[in-house]
Amino acid sequence: MKKRNTVLTLGITSIILLVTVQIFIVRGIWKQKDELFTLRYTLHSQEAMGYINRRLSTDGFDTVRILLGPYSEQANKKLQTAKDPEELDARKKEIYDYVTSLLNHEQDLSVMLSSYFERRGFDKNFNFSIVINNLEMINKDTIAIHQSQSFANRRNQGRTVRFAPPETSKEKILVNMKVMEDNNYRLFFEYYIDFTDKHQQILKETLAWLGLSVFTILVVIIIFMVTYKNLVEEKRLSNLKTDFINNMTHELKTPLSTITVAGKTLEMPQIRTNEQKILETAKMIGKQSIHLNQLINMILEISMWERTQFQLDKRKVNIEELMNDVVESFKSGGGNGSTIIQKYNLDGAQVDVDAVYFTTLINNLLSNAVKYSDKVPVIEVEGFTTEDKISIRVTDNGIGINKIDQKHVFDKFYRASTGNIHKYKGLGLGLYYVKKIAEAHGGDVTVSSRPGKGSTFTITLPNC
Ligand code: ADP
Repeated sequence: MKKRNTVLTLGITSIILLVTVQIFIVRGIWKQKDELFTLRYTLHSQEAMGYINRRLSTDGFDTVRILLGPYSEQANKKLQTAKDPEELDARKKEIYDYVTSLLNHEQDLSVMLSSYFERRGFDKNFNFSIVINNLEMINKDTIAIHQSQSFANRRNQGRTVRFAPPETSKEKILVNMKVMEDNNYRLFFEYYIDFTDKHQQILKETLAWLGLSVFTILVVIIIFMVTYKNLVEEKRLSNLKTDFINNMTHELKTPLSTITVAGKTLEMPQIRTNEQKILETAKMIGKQSIHLNQLINMILEISMWERTQFQLDKRKVNIEELMNDVVESFKSGGGNGSTIIQKYNLDGAQVDVDAVYFTTLINNLLSNAVKYSDKVPVIEVEGFTTEDKISIRVTDNGIGINKIDQKHVFDKFYRASTGNIHKYKGLGLGLYYVKKIAEAHGGDVTVSSRPGKGSTFTITLPNC
């Protein structure tokens, strides 16, 4: 139990560790791909700007420049005629809004960039954004219309603002920084782009890693589960074997001690003259020897099956007749006062069976039905045919088997753990034997049971 828990804890910890490491690796790769993407498009944008400037002799803002000239002259006049600070502020806002809209709607850079990217086979689905860093109107005095925070900071620190290093953010790529000015205004703005399907593209590039990662985790989980299951199974088998050895010792000891006592009895002088007693003791020795022999044979046979497929001597037999014989001989062998009801609907079916093994199979079921009973046993033996199968059903009114034990009763050495195990003697081989014989005949055995109510064992054999 302790070992199992240690293995479980170790396994789960390793899996959690592996998952964490994988998350770190994938996140690292994602970050790297993201940075590479930005770098790639920064370079593409610079190439594009070079091309647009050189080949098309424009910066994409010619229309803006043309419209801004006369507008700034007018705007300046309006600023001069403002009567109070409120009106001045309102006019400043109006100018800022107009310039913003002009930059966004009258620029041609986005179209040029997009067609350049398309021609080069790059991704052309980007959004653009324009940030006005500084807008000033120049008249007698310079009137600041708008100043971005970063621009103001840089200016306050006395840095050269116009040639400040580009601040390409993680998401947005700075393509162009522009200064436009004439006698009436000075405008400094930045043009950014960002890609709508950037994450999709990165996902595509990272997918192989992601797949590999998930695959590795799955493989490790499966390996762990299989190993753990094997360990549990091994432990279960080892417990079963220990139980078997205990039970076997118990089972073998009983006839042996009876034989020993009988032997000692025969040595007694007063017995030697009593012929009747000698006969009884000899019979007892004989009976116990047969029982001992049966037990040893059973164990030997099973260990032989493990190594080789056992040989069946199959012959066509009338299954109903065979069933009648087996039940009759079981009754005459004692049957412990049980009542056995037989109901057959077999239409004289002839089945290929090894009569000896088949008798053992039915005997095991009948003796279990008697053994695992806490009242007078009433056993129902039924036989019927269905399409290509013959079914034999043995139902008892015994102690029944719980759901968990039902899954294991056909396992080698398995004995139900509930109840007093030594009250019902056995080696846990009877039903294992039943299953092996049924399977060797190309059939199977199943159980259904309700604790306290009784059990039903159904044997199916091919009907040919
Ligand atoms: P054994 O009888 O030697 O223990 P078996 O392989 O015949 O071994 O049976 C395995 C277990 O199945 C038994 O220990 C018992 O708990 C349960 N069992 C088998 N037959 C019956 C039955 N008819 N009614 C209740 N329990 C049964």
